[in-house]
Amino acid sequence: MFENLSERLDRSFKLLKGEGRITEINVAETLKDVRRALLDADVNYIVAKQFTDLVKEKALGQNVLTSVRPGELMVKIVHDELATLMGGHSVDINLKGSPAIILMSGLQGSGKTTFSGKLANMLKSKQGKHPMLVACDVYRPAAIQQLMILGEQLQVPVYSEPDSKNPVEIARHAVAEAKTKGHDVVIIDTAGRLAIDEEMMREIEAIKAAVDPGEVLFVVDSMTGQDAVNTAKEFNTRLDFDGVVLTKLDGDTRGGAALSIRSVVDKPIKFVGTGEKMEAIDVFHPERMADRILGMGDIVSLVERAQEQYDEREARKLEEKIAKNQFDFNDFLAQIHQIKKMGNLKELASMIPGVGKAIKDMDIDDDAFKSIEAIIYSMTPEERSHPSILNGQRRKRIATGSGTSIQEVNRLITQFDQTRKMMKNIQGFKGGKMPKMPRM
Ligand code: GDP
Repeated sequence: MFENLSERLDRSFKLLKGEGRITEINVAETLKDVRRALLDADVNYIVAKQFTDLVKEKALGQNVLTSVRPGELMVKIVHDELATLMGGHSVDINLKGSPAIILMSGLQGSGKTTFSGKLANMLKSKQGKHPMLVACDVYRPAAIQQLMILGEQLQVPVYSEPDSKNPVEIARHAVAEAKTKGHDVVIIDTAGRLAIDEEMMREIEAIKAAVDPGEVLFVVDSMTGQDAVNTAKEFNTRLDFDGVVLTKLDGDTRGGAALSIRSVVDKPIKFVGTGEKMEAIDVFHPERMADRILGMGDIVSLVERAQEQYDEREARKLEEKIAKNQFDFNDFLAQIHQIKKMGNLKELASMIPGVGKAIKDMDIDDDAFKSIEAIIYSMTPEERSHPSILNGQRRKRIATGSGTSIQEVNRLITQFDQTRKMMKNIQGFKGGKMPKMPRM
């Protein structure tokens, strides 16, 4: 995400980093470049101007000209101001009330239904909540169906009244049903339109008035840039929502919406969507986002994602298997599935400081594991748990079965063997022994 902006800002700072002596002219030029980068990223022009004026003021105040590392100091000032621009700190959603009521608003296609599912999943799996989803789109039967499918997949009940044409009543009934059934959170997905429309606005206002939600979220596609900001303004005037959800950040190379919305609408961005999968949801942290924009990576989020997938008991079992040299292709497959659950590979890699820029133009797709998985799936259970029996004939059969080549199968088995040895050595080292270096 935001690759274009990151690259442009990086180039802007080159001037300051490369110069032996910094002059006021260099600083002014850098700031002009930063402003152009922001405008190209589709940041609102007033916001861009205010931003560079503020950075200039700070730079003068902190004496960038006489500092030892003017380039780095400027990057720091820009970083801090970017974080402030996006709200400074993360803001939680309001889960008070029994049940807590969360109302979704936004245009059709913004990602409301997908996000409703993601949020329900997050509240259920991370906070132990018992959410209920509500389908209030009475115009598109497909929308109700979409939410039902998500609910089934996530094992979260979905309230709907397929024959009703009254979303206000549906919402009211849903809240009553949630109370009797002991659900502590109700997430109401509403109907959107392709553009702002009076009837849609009146409808969502009426739902809001009827169920008095503790949290009204406005969901918007970040890839629509300034349009996203304008839509946010209109929805906010009518609904006075509590927070913004920026979806499709995974496809947003510019970042204009993320940078402008907060200061234009004065409402915090609370969540971002970074993919179509149910796990692709993040709480919005302005500081971490500023880190990413400036190519500093986001190690904190990466570790958090890894921790979410980390099951202590499973990890212990795995450790024991490694120690006994019993790590097999089943474990290998399980590890791949865990990594895949953490999200899009390119996005994960770009959270490592410095890596984002390096892999910008590389094509890393989620299918990177596809042939590995195909090869392992083509093995018999016996072969998976006893890789040593994989002789030439078996390898040939596996290559044919998985639609790969014998070379690919050989490569995977060699890599697997090496990984196994390396892990065993690391284990030995943890137990007090020195790791054995592979012989050259
Ligand atoms: P709604 O009409 O507002 O309910 O929008 P949907 O939830 O149906 O989403 C519209 C499309 O956007 C679907 O194809 C979703 O899979 C996709 N989508 C939603 N959120 C994201 C996201 O964060 N990233 C990506 N890449 N796609 C998303």
